[in-house]
This record gives sequence, structure tokens and C-alpha cells, in this order.
Amino acid sequence: MAAERAGRDARTVEVLATTKYVAIEDLPRLVEAGIRLVGENRAIDLEEKASSGTSGAFNWDFIGQLQSRRVRKIVPYARLIHSVASESAMRELAKHRDRAKPGLRILIQVNVAGDESKAGVPPGQLDAMIESAPVPVAGLMTMPPFAEDPEDSRRWFTDLRELAQDRGLHHLSMGTSQDYAVAIEEGATIIRLGRILYEKRVLGCRGRWT
Ligand SMILES: *Cc1c(COP(=O)(O)O)cnc(C)c1O
Repeated sequence: MAAERAGRDARTVEVLATTKYVAIEDLPRLVEAGIRLVGENRAIDLEEKASSGTSGAFNWDFIGQLQSRRVRKIVPYARLIHSVASESAMRELAKHRDRAKPGLRILIQVNVAGDESKAGVPPGQLDAMIESAPVPVAGLMTMPPFAEDPEDSRRWFTDLRELAQDRGLHHLSMGTSQDYAVAIEEGATIIRLGRILYEKRVLGCRGRWT
């Protein structure tokens, strides 16, 4: 619906289901629900879940804060790493490129709001980051500051879209349960959903907090 409002084809928006709230034994329920794209926050959880029984049914993305020393663990499983935000992570990517899943691409996380509590590079460092990337950069990701009103996130999503457009980058990973509709209106190509899928039992499995 948000896509229609924005005059976009809903098929151009990928829905990524976060698995940080989902136990390994519940992964088959996601398969049944038709979920094909999932994202994990922690390297060890990615390793464990992406090498479990149903793992082949999914494309796995890494969406959590990226610690350089974990890059090595992540690259064999990830389709896309959404959260590259340091030169040291780039160096680790270069070092472990030969272990990577074929076709691995990255997004650069940008801290468009200059929010100290969030990861991401300042927009001014984006070009240097893109230049130093040892694997293809498919786009940008952001986590806006927490806001009660999703409308407050709009300006950050607009900023991210402009940064990507100026550099000819396709993917925009932005929007969570809280503000995905606004993110789609502003051009998101991947929305990352957690709470809303599990709270409403869309996927028929209980979140860890329920
Ligand atoms: C958990 C998480 C989400 C999903 O957030 P919800 O509020 O549960 O929809 C999206 N992005 C990242 C990086 C996350 O860690």
C-alpha cells in the first residue's frame, strides 16, 4: 500500500525478516510463511542459523553492527552486508574475500542524522569508503534516530536517497516496523522488519519477548 501511494511497484521493495528474535527451530515457520530474505545481527547467530537445516531456503543478509574481527565469520554466508561503516571492516573484507559467498556485495551504513548512539559513517566520509571497498557497493543503509512519529524519519530517508542517487547506487536499506511506510515512500528497496511480523503473528511464531 505504501508503495502504491508513492507510485511505486511493490515488487521493487524487498521485505527482509530479521531473525534476531527467531530461534533456530522456528526457522521452518518462516519458510512456510513464504519468507525468502532474512537478516541476522550477530555473526555467531548468522553462522549457526545459516548452516542449519532450513538455511538453504533463505538468502541471508547481515544487518547488525559490524565488528571488523567478525567479518571473517560473516562473509561465507552473506548475500549482502548492510552495515559496513569502517575502513578496518574494509580491510578485513579484502583479506577474507576468497572465503566469501559468490556474489557478496555490501551496503555502506551512513549516519545521516549525526546521531551519536548510532553506527554509520558521516556523509562526508562516504566517497572515501566507496573507493576503499574491495567488493561491490550495492547501496546505502541507515538507522535514523528513534522517533515516536515515523514522519520524523522522513528527512533522513530523503537524505540517504539523495546520497545514493548522486553516486548511482541502487539499494536503499531503510525502514523498520516503526517507519517502513515512510521509507518506501522515500525510495527504500529493502525494508528490515522484526517486531511487526512477530507481534501480529504474521509468521505464526512467537517473538522472544512475547
Ligand atoms: C531488529 C532490527 C530491525 C527490525 O526492527 P523492528 O523494530 O523489530 O522492525 C531492523 N534493522 C536492524 C539493524 C535491526 O537490528
